[in-house]
Amino acid sequence: MNREPRKRKKIYFTAVGISFEILAVFILLLCVIHFIRKSGDSATTFVETETEEQIPETDEDISMWVREAGRTEQLKNDGDHYGYQIRYPVFDNPSVDQDISRRITEMIDIFALETTERAAYAEAAVPFLKVEYESFAAGDNFVSVIFHVEKMQGNDSPIASSVLTITYNLESGAAVSLSDIFQPGFEGRVSQLVVREFSANPDVVPQMGNSSFISATSALPGNFTSFALCGSEIRFYFSPGLVAPADTGVQSVTIQRAELEDLLRYDGNGTLKPTETQPPAPEPPSEVPPEEVPSEPVTEPAPTEPTPPASAETEPPVTFEAPTASVELDPNRPMVAFTFDDGPYSPVTGRILDVLETYQSKATFFVMGNRVNNYKDTLRRAYEMGCQIGNHSYNHKSFEKIAPEDVTWQIAYTNDLIQDIIGVRTSLVRVPYGAYHGQVSEVVKYPMIQWNIDPEDWKSKNKDAIVQNIMAHISDGDIILMHDLYPATAEAFEEVVPVLIEQGYQLVTVADLYAAKGIPLESGRVYFNTN
Ligand code: ZN
Repeated sequence: MNREPRKRKKIYFTAVGISFEILAVFILLLCVIHFIRKSGDSATTFVETETEEQIPETDEDISMWVREAGRTEQLKNDGDHYGYQIRYPVFDNPSVDQDISRRITEMIDIFALETTERAAYAEAAVPFLKVEYESFAAGDNFVSVIFHVEKMQGNDSPIASSVLTITYNLESGAAVSLSDIFQPGFEGRVSQLVVREFSANPDVVPQMGNSSFISATSALPGNFTSFALCGSEIRFYFSPGLVAPADTGVQSVTIQRAELEDLLRYDGNGTLKPTETQPPAPEPPSEVPPEEVPSEPVTEPAPTEPTPPASAETEPPVTFEAPTASVELDPNRPMVAFTFDDGPYSPVTGRILDVLETYQSKATFFVMGNRVNNYKDTLRRAYEMGCQIGNHSYNHKSFEKIAPEDVTWQIAYTNDLIQDIIGVRTSLVRVPYGAYHGQVSEVVKYPMIQWNIDPEDWKSKNKDAIVQNIMAHISDGDIILMHDLYPATAEAFEEVVPVLIEQGYQLVTVADLYAAKGIPLESGRVYFNTN
């Protein structure tokens, strides 16, 4: 049974009139050469291989693949434990070619590892990795490569298929990301168009109501990272099982460039357009530097599961959360903004809200996307009380260390989740760990709120220490950092608030504090306090 593919190959060669003995010697020779080359270096070696005529690998018509750019080379191995046949483009652009070979090496290495796990099947048929590619030119500057990856048991029994897309800027030699191609805010339109196109795809239509489809096509940049620029079209790919039953394989959508023209950052020649809105210049260092930026904890008192947004077939209207003081503020009395990070967490957040309610006060909650669905009622209560809800990322990754695209995603996805619960999006960001250096101010298109008082509640988890720390430092215009995760934080807040109110302090949201002091909050800038 496992000999089936080989038999077919033999018939094929006989048909083209090559003597089997010569062929056998030839193949043996190739194996020896391959083995020698491979043993020279433990890494996968790229072999400039023979042309299609010399070694016909499959009886499949390769003309089904569009290859507009680059010349084809292939890499082949018929090992005892696994085999592969990989065709890939070479552009004679050193950094692009190097990137492609790195990715292919990685593909093979991973496949080799996986085959160890499938050792039990290996006796029946040798696992085989088959990669074909398509390439498209988009103007003079961009080229998109789409690798169609099939993992098979033997030569003709597919076990998994996937697609890897990479778009290169040939001028810089670098792979480009969605944010290089699109203006900010493209995801709403792309989501709409993708849903529209899928509604004509019979494999997909029956799945359109289910949560996997809705979440895979919702207006989040992370959903559209598998894209290719194909001349006057742009394609988006979706892994098997995401938008249609897994056995229908990879699904794709083709959208006319013209429908996205106003959102594109490159023109028909593949030249980058100037950005429409220039990000504001980064703020010079604040004259009052904050106390040493602490490493904030990421504690998880309750297990949380990422939950896809409930609905996003059409882009919801964007309403930014902008609370205004419901209580008249007295500009002559001191005011401070308490901020609570890393929640919500009802057992603690609820106590803090109780205190705020009692003293007709407000605070700001910088919540995490991966928690909000577990504490919807608490989040709603905070918002309805007039507290401000801010964005503290999806899962507390440092924005200095992740890709710019991931930063955008962390903020946007968290905003989607928050909007599903309270109906509005947040307008302020607190970056995880307070890490706002490097790329951060360029990527984050929101005011970034730091703090100037850190009672280190996360460290001591001790009510008295927290109270003492706050009372020793607090003054008008301060922003205080706390975490609504620890009972000690709630206890300290319960103790501190009546005292501060007694002293004439007004406890306000961050937005109200800056509004009261007449300081505008601007995108991409960092704020520590109002002094
Ligand atoms: Zn945090």
